Amino acid sequence: MGDTQLVWFKRDLRIGDHEALARAADLGPCLCIYIYEPEVLRAPDFDPSHLVFINEGLRELRENLRGLGSDLLLCHGEAVHVLNDLHARFNFKSMHSHQETGNAITYARDLRVLEWSRHANVRWEEYRQHGVFRGLRDRDGWAGRWNEVMRSPLIESPRRVDKPVGLECGPILSEAELGLETSTKGLVQTGGESQGLDTLLAFLSERGERYRTEMSSPNTAVHACSRISPYLAFGQISMRTVLQETEARQRIIRAEPKVKGVKRPPWGASMASFSKRLRWHCHFIQKLESQPELEWENMARAYDGLRETDFRTDWFEAWKAGKTGYPMVDACMRSLHDTGWVNFRMRAMLMSFASYHLWLDWRPTSLYLATQFLDYEPGIHYSQAQMQSGTTGINAVRIYSPTKQVFDQDPEGVFIKQWVPELSGVPAENIAQPELMSADEQDRYGCQIGRDYPAPLVVHKEAVKAAKQRIYGVRKQAEAKSEAQAVFERHGSRRKPNRRR
Ligand SMILES: Cc1cc2nc3c(=O)[nH]c(=O)nc-3n(C[C@H](O)[C@H](O)[C@H](O)COP(=O)(O)OP(=O)(O)OC[C@H]3O[C@@H](n4cnc5c(N)ncnc54)[C@H](O)[C@@H]3O)c2cc1C
Repeated sequence: MGDTQLVWFKRDLRIGDHEALARAADLGPCLCIYIYEPEVLRAPDFDPSHLVFINEGLRELRENLRGLGSDLLLCHGEAVHVLNDLHARFNFKSMHSHQETGNAITYARDLRVLEWSRHANVRWEEYRQHGVFRGLRDRDGWAGRWNEVMRSPLIESPRRVDKPVGLECGPILSEAELGLETSTKGLVQTGGESQGLDTLLAFLSERGERYRTEMSSPNTAVHACSRISPYLAFGQISMRTVLQETEARQRIIRAEPKVKGVKRPPWGASMASFSKRLRWHCHFIQKLESQPELEWENMARAYDGLRETDFRTDWFEAWKAGKTGYPMVDACMRSLHDTGWVNFRMRAMLMSFASYHLWLDWRPTSLYLATQFLDYEPGIHYSQAQMQSGTTGINAVRIYSPTKQVFDQDPEGVFIKQWVPELSGVPAENIAQPELMSADEQDRYGCQIGRDYPAPLVVHKEAVKAAKQRIYGVRKQAEAKSEAQAVFERHGSRRKPNRRR
């Protein structure tokens, strides 16, 4: 039997394709741990719903480890203290974990752990779990490296994991035991490695057929999108597994014989759109990996000072509550409160509405959305938030019209009425702009604007005109242009721009 190895599970709650576990299990008995870290749980981007999802993942992980002969030790405390105590008890010489591209708190914690490990003479092996690379200065050659990682064979889960003598594992801790409020979300996805795989396989074999055409409407996206994001965010499935299963499915689709006169189902186009987005996952996380400041600093500093001093707290509160007077914005926000998920197009609209129509700084608004998204993944989240707010300097300014989104994505108002019951009596022709109903109509349909449902906070045309003037005012300056080139070198995709998103 070799030396005891510590395996630290972080945002990688699985045994499949888990390099840290597999390598450690080859070397000796494994002290498998998860740490509930107070500073992470109390951070403003954390929500109790995240803990519920994590705990569901931990429950299954613990069962799986027990099935392999080991167990999962659940610890509560600051990471360095926990590791130091465990080191005193188990005298491990090496620890194994996956690299994490997290928020500023976990970044600083990893630096402290590194220092501690050097001090304690413990070797810390960190393995890559996504197609994200440390220490990159620019994006040249990134796609090739991503392909290499994603196409390399999956790591087999160990057949047996020995556990150190004297290991007693504590219980999984609830929200209350960790001093958190109870999660208020109702219809959220259930966590766990097997749920993650089932979700993916159901998408690839049934739900994903019309992914390409149904991803943008909140009515259809809920079933037509993969819904794999929270499993990826907490590592309950690996990106390599998702990509390789997708490519296996694509091979089957391509091999299906063509029947003359019979139109093929749209699987091919849908899977092509899907697999492209899997690359975006890592492309976005790479931005935060290369520049952790993106969590709090504009990607292009030329935009510093653009919105910061104009913050209207009353508008922020109305946006958070889903009471802006724009039915699509309000329905999306309220659905998020309950389900923790909404599709990409609607996320982009929510962010763009906050940043352009309400001229709110992206930092507090993205932080709020982080708590509302069950799949909160800092690298994607802050890069997308900045992109939808015009502060990257390299992406086209895209301002969504929340009224047009109703015409395009929910013309009958089905989604809106599901989440904004005040509008349930309003007919389809008035659902995009209920404030235009006459007093008579408001009476007839049981929705008094200003009493039952708010009047719009801002007038779309005027707000967009003012926003464009301000953002293009910066964009056309010489310094902003030259900075945009530097941002592109560091973060820009070397592929042709995509017109759909
Ligand atoms: C303001 C804003 C914030 C966002 N925050 C997050 C976040 O915290 N976590 C997160 O996972 N996604 C985030 N997204 C991206 C995207 O909306 C979600 O990945 C997607 O809606 C998740 O649902 P799905 O798994 O069914 O996606 P699918 O459409 O089925 O896509 C599959 C996977 O591809 C990746 N992907 C898809 N679209 C994108 C995209 N535009 N950018 C990067 N990766 C993508 C994700 O990993 C996703 O799980 C954000 C988008 C916006 C506009």
